[in-house]
Amino acid sequence: MPLFEKVLIANRGEIALRIQRACRELGIKTVVVHSTADREAKYVKLADESVCIGPPPSRESYLNIPAIIAAAEVTDAEAVHPGYGFLSENADFAERVEKSGFKFIGPSPEVIRMMGDKVAAKRAMIAAGVPCVPGSEGALPDDPKEIVRTARAVGYPVIIKAAGGGGGRGMRVVHTEAALLHAVNTTKAEAAAAFNNPELYMEKFLENPRHIEIQILADHYGNVIHLGERDCSMQRRHQKVLEEAPAPQLPTKLREKIGQRCAEACKKIGYRGAGTIEFLYEQGEFYFIEMNTRVQVEHPVTELITGIDIVQQQIRVASGERLALRQKDIEFKGHAIECRINAEDPFRFTPSPGRILTWHMPGGPGIRVDSHAYANYVVPPHYDSMIGKIICYGDTREQAIARMTIALSEMAVDGIQTNVPLHRRIMRDTHFQEGGTSIHYLESMLTDLN
Ligand code: ADP
Repeated sequence: MPLFEKVLIANRGEIALRIQRACRELGIKTVVVHSTADREAKYVKLADESVCIGPPPSRESYLNIPAIIAAAEVTDAEAVHPGYGFLSENADFAERVEKSGFKFIGPSPEVIRMMGDKVAAKRAMIAAGVPCVPGSEGALPDDPKEIVRTARAVGYPVIIKAAGGGGGRGMRVVHTEAALLHAVNTTKAEAAAAFNNPELYMEKFLENPRHIEIQILADHYGNVIHLGERDCSMQRRHQKVLEEAPAPQLPTKLREKIGQRCAEACKKIGYRGAGTIEFLYEQGEFYFIEMNTRVQVEHPVTELITGIDIVQQQIRVASGERLALRQKDIEFKGHAIECRINAEDPFRFTPSPGRILTWHMPGGPGIRVDSHAYANYVVPPHYDSMIGKIICYGDTREQAIARMTIALSEMAVDGIQTNVPLHRRIMRDTHFQEGGTSIHYLESMLTDLN
């Protein structure tokens, strides 16, 4: 008996294909929902069934909750996998899925709601003993005098963040008191418009941190383990470009300590499924910034160093299975690096949708390609520009870099522009090769190139 007869995949692109592969290996049938823009995509045809849920704009298709629920109903799916992005962290969606009689492959709606409100998330993490970035206690008050006082107490520079923010949006760094209130007002207006939630909070702006996150797996019975960390410090405009595991130069003791702390916190909040606790890491200290209650783009680097299929684990625990893995069984072996391949100008970052003419992907030992693209595939202009990921494994970080360098040199894509040249440049960079650069490094490298 499979875990589920049939799973509906409420997503698109590479992650829809990734989930499909996990389901197939588990003997589960798949339903893929798609917009009219994705109708001809191969991964849609590969699914056992597909249902068109609307026109290209996400609002009318991939974010269209009634259409997705109706698709699950007509196809008799048992469970819904939300992937990442779109509705994956929408508590109302999770609730509607469950109320309609389907299993949601993710945590409970209550936990999603709490973690989606960053002020509430921080409060929960502090209560669970997870170290956080110093900042305002809860949401910022309206009184300008109070705001000024809070910023003085935290100490400049500060960062103003939207409680409902996500995807690198809804943040503003403030260096001086003179700029504070204007920044607060602008961020508040943006937050109200973009996230339907004007609530803000303030944090100390850490000057040179790294972004390190912990992968968690939990079942419905209070068993929680961590799968170590990923370093996602290579970012541009708060968006990850390249990720790796383990984090270079992170002492084993610290990894164990923070991993255990995260697992305990997840147990306390009743977390289930796969999740990621994100931290900024500076001078040997971890500071919680947010929790992602879904599978992440960069999950494959953890899969390669642990040998665990995270998407399959999500499906297993959602079906009610107990985690078969214990913390003592988890071993970290070798090193993995992921390059996100985006359809964009490699140095100006303008999107480059359109028809792919040539698509030659790398291969060989230690190379994994997760992509839904192929020659003749048309990258639609309506969605995120990521069209795939190259993930390389090596016994050492040096070997992973060497393999990634070869993989990127083999790659040939024509018809659209991709950021492959940027990744080639990063692989050659001596500071990247040393490892352990901060979240600002990539942007400074890009400034030097221009
Ligand atoms: P989002 O949900 O939009 O991804 P996060 O809170 O995870 O927002 O922050 C995204 C990125 O913004 C971090 O990886 C980091 O680069 C930067 N950032 C967030 N908070 C701080 C802070 N207190 N100090 C310095 N940089 C920060």
